[in-house]
Amino acid sequence: MTNIKKTREIQKLAKKKSIRPVSSTFEYEDQMDIRRQVLEKITHTKLTHINSPTFDVKTVSTKNCENLIGKIEIPLGVAGPLKIKGNFINGETFVPLATTEGALVASVNRGCKAITESGGAYVYLEQSGITRAPIFRTNNLMQAKKFVSWIKSHFDDIAQKVKETSSHITLLSITPYIAGRNVYPRFVFDTQDAMGMNMATFACDHVIRMYIEKSTKVRCVALSGNVCSDKKASWMNKIEKRGHSVHADVVITKDVIREILKTSPEAIVDTYTRKILIGSAISGSIGFNAQHANIVASIFAATGQDLAHVVEGSLGTTTAELVEEGVYFSVFLPALPLGTVGGGTSLATQKEALSILEVAGGGNPSGSHAKKLAEITAAAVMAGEVSLLSAIAAGDLAKAHKKLGREGIAL
Ligand code: NAP
Repeated sequence: MTNIKKTREIQKLAKKKSIRPVSSTFEYEDQMDIRRQVLEKITHTKLTHINSPTFDVKTVSTKNCENLIGKIEIPLGVAGPLKIKGNFINGETFVPLATTEGALVASVNRGCKAITESGGAYVYLEQSGITRAPIFRTNNLMQAKKFVSWIKSHFDDIAQKVKETSSHITLLSITPYIAGRNVYPRFVFDTQDAMGMNMATFACDHVIRMYIEKSTKVRCVALSGNVCSDKKASWMNKIEKRGHSVHADVVITKDVIREILKTSPEAIVDTYTRKILIGSAISGSIGFNAQHANIVASIFAATGQDLAHVVEGSLGTTTAELVEEGVYFSVFLPALPLGTVGGGTSLATQKEALSILEVAGGGNPSGSHAKKLAEITAAAVMAGEVSLLSAIAAGDLAKAHKKLGREGIAL
């Protein structure tokens, strides 16, 4: 009977050339099957591999993805061990990397080896806080100025109202920006182990509707005004920071450069100067780095982060200087939004990847897991920089990609 009902629904929707709405009388698994089979009919395809996800279909349908038809698989590799000394990790870890780019995992793995054999990465988490900046429209500049004064003098009351929305959120600061009669207060929230964009949005919505608009009669015309700035490459994110802002450094010794990286300190720093400094300046890059996006994207995909945050997560700066012992490397990631609870972090495979790093779920104390993940990400990004700059210095970039990405040699 169920199969007959499903077949009828598939025929009905395919005739309309529509994938929705699938009747809500069907179970979530059946809704997904119907939608996929309708799509197969409309597009004359067979979606055999997109079929049969292992995640909980009901949870994903209601929390993560609408119009669900199945899943896409991304290969998962691992790099390490990577030795890190920070406030939230002190020891060695393996780093899960989800990617389809041949040579990426091998490159990070080589960087991890170079860092670990040079004594390990030192990491320092500078600040944490996710942002949301709504737009208020006042009548004129004079009212805008008064509104900003009101916001500043009522910070404690606003912070109190924010607390009503979640037991895991704290308002840290509000920086208002004025443009004519428009005011953009940039709210910064500590959201502990969650990346926090939903929490920040709900908190802003609550405090604006229940308190700010009622008290000031100034209208909020949009909950997000691009000063946040969420999922956009901006100088605001680089300078004011967003999510977790984290540094890492290491001195890679001459022996390691010769034995593992197969090049010389002078060649690395010369490549760094001509590529990262001069090349990035010519192209007007916001980020000054070799491949931050590669490592941020593959860790984000593996651990269930919001992938669009690779935009600000990869705006970082890398430095490389000659020192007596070899080469001093550092990376700075100013805007790394990530979490270990919420969003995609609770999906079964992503949660397992987080457990490799011993950060699945909420930390003890709360917030420590997300901070540890940020510290590991910075050290892993540095491993990618050390390895790629060395490969380019040694003239090995094309050779490595040809060998690992084209000829299919597995390491
Ligand atoms: P969320 O899943 O919406 O909320 C996280 C919840 O986890 C909190 O409400 C909190 O509950 C609970 N929690 C339990 N233990 C926690 C701990 N140790 N630390 C922090 N929270 C803890 O996650 P989110 O991070 O706020 O939002 C992530 C989602 O937002 C992603 O799916 C992302 O794609 C999406 N997103 C939304 C927007 C937007 O504008 N809304 C923008 C970009 C991305 P309590 O409230 O009970 O304390």
